Amino acid sequence: RPRVLSGIQPTSGSFHMGNYLGAVRQWVALQETHDAFYMVVDLHALTLPQDPRELRANTRLAAAQLLATGLDPERCTLFVQSHVPEHAQLSWVMECMTGFGEASRMTQFKDKSSRHGADRTSVGLFTYPILQVADILLYQADQVPVGEDQRQHIELTRNIAERFNGRYGETFTVPEPYILRETAKIFDLQDPTVKMSKSSSSPKGIIDLLDDPKASAKKIKSAVTDTGSEIRFDPEQKPGVSNLLTILATLTDVTVAEVEQKYAGKGYGALKTDLAEVVSEWAAPFSARTREYLDDPETLDSLLAEGAEKARSVAAETLAQAYDKVGLLPGK
Ligand code: ATP
Ligand code: MG
Repeated sequence: RPRVLSGIQPTSGSFHMGNYLGAVRQWVALQETHDAFYMVVDLHALTLPQDPRELRANTRLAAAQLLATGLDPERCTLFVQSHVPEHAQLSWVMECMTGFGEASRMTQFKDKSSRHGADRTSVGLFTYPILQVADILLYQADQVPVGEDQRQHIELTRNIAERFNGRYGETFTVPEPYILRETAKIFDLQDPTVKMSKSSSSPKGIIDLLDDPKASAKKIKSAVTDTGSEIRFDPEQKPGVSNLLTILATLTDVTVAEVEQKYAGKGYGALKTDLAEVVSEWAAPFSARTREYLDDPETLDSLLAEGAEKARSVAAETLAQAYDKVGLLPGK
């Protein structure tokens, strides 16, 4: 079985529709065919200021949401990043393999740091793609299911894996991105030219999966659409409508062309009303399941502990190889 690895940040509580359609939905499918490792990346969350108590609660909440979407600890390895110390340990080696200029070219850093200002930008925000390199290489992942915004970081991972292998001999699997074209980038409802984002979307721009259905419906109904009235999939001319069509098609398991056909001659209002309905039908059982997992924190924590143990057995072996290759003297 080929191996996949991916992660999601435990920031801002609820996952959003972009996280689900762009990434987590694929994770659920891939656990059937792949040796799958999925994690809540709490170390990545520290790149922006977090309230400690909230971070802890959001880490459990993220795990509960992953289980509620259908991740099954019998069929995948689900864990919390900081429970596997090898991530931080390999990250240092990878930092020393990465050029400063190379890291400076990461567009996500440029976006996020410009939003927060130089004084409030941590070095961790700058180096987090390198922690991600370590995350992926530790598990010798063949594929990394993510949204389009992560493509550059996977490319960096490939470059560093090749560099390491070239310098020290075959050590790491060079991973491929696994990005589904249709849902690679779900857009902000209020600004359909930028991605829906936990950290930068306005509340009105984001469909939170744990939102009250009425709140989601309201947001969908006030989504920015385009002038004109024709319902047509045309991301260039009609980014707002196209985004709604993508979400509706994916959630109802039909093609965008079929949805387009269904709404031929109808107005934006009909599309929005139906989408709100579909989202609420999807989200209600999801929220209920999430709550069930949260209501039993002991079971949740022990699932995560088991996941961490499985993950560690793989990660420790890779870390030991990498330490050996670069010439660190084994302890004991
Ligand atoms: P932040 O804005 O703080 O980075 P985020 O919304 O990007 O938060 P993450 O936890 O960083 O959320 O991302 C988890 C996964 O969801 C990643 O694989 C990412 O590529 C994917 N993803 C995030 N936003 C979208 C989106 N709008 N469309 C498709 N995939 C997305
Ligand atoms: Mg992100």
